[in-house]
Amino acid sequence: MTYHTKYNYVCANCGLAYLPFNDHLKCPRCDTEGTKTFEIVKEAIKAYNYHKMIYKSPLPPKYAFLSLGDRYIYLACKMLADYPGKDDEEYINAFIKTNWDKIDDIDILSEHYKAFLIQVLEEFKRMEKQ
Ligand SMILES: [Zn+2]
Repeated sequence: MTYHTKYNYVCANCGLAYLPFNDHLKCPRCDTEGTKTFEIVKEAIKAYNYHKMIYKSPLPPKYAFLSLGDRYIYLACKMLADYPGKDDEEYINAFIKTNWDKIDDIDILSEHYKAFLIQVLEEFKRMEKQ
């Protein structure tokens, strides 16, 4: 079994599919504040740990996107699987460029996913220290 969420969300104003992963996060397209907050950073870390336990790898051999949140989980697990342990921002920029085909509306959402992945990495490092 792979780890999944049921997180789906679209902007109430413009319909863009994205997850507000912090309070008061604004829509990357129309700047309208999200009406909900999703714990997707924590979920991504849980998925990472779960996949490592079950598959001995953060990234399962096959992973289906059953929700919008699953796309975030997949990207976070893949990012952590290849993380070189340094040059975080450069690494994440390069990661987004090479995984553009996994992100819809990449031109609008690249900064959004970048901010998400940086937050995942910070949470991951906090966890590793414990
Ligand atoms: Zn919007």
